[in-house]
Amino acid sequence: MEQYILKVKSVENATHDVLRITIEKPKQFHFEPGQATEIAINKKDWEFELRPFTFTCLPSDEYLEFTIKTYPEHKDVTNELLNLKTGDEMIVGEPWGTIGYKGPGIFIAGGAGVTPFIAIFRHLHSKNEIGGNKLIFANKTSADIINKDEFSRMLGDNFINILSHERDERYAQGYITPDFLKKHAGDPGQYYYVCGPDPMMDAMIDHLHQLGVDDKFIVKEEF
Ligand SMILES: Cc1cc2nc3c(=O)[nH]c(=O)nc-3n(C[C@H](O)[C@H](O)[C@H](O)COP(=O)(O)OP(=O)(O)OC[C@H]3O[C@@H](n4cnc5c(N)ncnc54)[C@H](O)[C@@H]3O)c2cc1C
Repeated sequence: MEQYILKVKSVENATHDVLRITIEKPKQFHFEPGQATEIAINKKDWEFELRPFTFTCLPSDEYLEFTIKTYPEHKDVTNELLNLKTGDEMIVGEPWGTIGYKGPGIFIAGGAGVTPFIAIFRHLHSKNEIGGNKLIFANKTSADIINKDEFSRMLGDNFINILSHERDERYAQGYITPDFLKKHAGDPGQYYYVCGPDPMMDAMIDHLHQLGVDDKFIVKEEF
């Protein structure tokens, strides 16, 4: 698989523990919104530590963007990304991934699992085709909601947040239950896009089956 060595253009915080990293884009590089790749930091001892991350920019942008949750407690790649600066180099592979837009539906994300949906929603919004889609976004606290203002602007009332570890009168509280899904999703005959950590994915697939959603309508990727 081809690999590219690309310079970092900018690093900023998207939330208290999520970085928005933009890097150079190779010529003739194409990905579909929702796709991911493997990246490594081009520094001694880190160049072989490849980890999967999702492109969050538009395919037409002149740079590549990643939105990455950092885990200092892992003492591994995402922690090292906290030291990344403009001008440093990243090693980036070819695009791949299982989540792609198939048609209007309900997008269910847990934490950094929202990243494939950032690219998909930006793409739909740029084409004026975002109507009929809804994002249900589960986080621990309101400070963890990635791209909150942008999702609100793009989706309006079709942006539903639920917080498990904080009470905030603007948002639902607790975990996503079958009743919560029924209230906000309803029709089993539409697409359900699900992305998040393992335990959440298992619970969501189970809830969707309970609501009568057929596997052919479930598009998923585990983080
Ligand atoms: C297709 C795909 C796309 C993805 N896209 C994104 C994205 O766009 N943005 C994003 O933020 N994430 C994304 N992820 C998740 C991301 O790949 C992981 O968060 C990342 O690989 C973590 O790397 P790491 O080196 O910090 O830690 P890891 O490689 O996960 O772990 C390193 C070490 O930390 C220790 N460790 C692991 N878990 C814990 C724990 N809970 N507590 C303490 N120690 C632990 C273990 O010893 C482990 O060996 C994606 C995943 C997939 C599969």
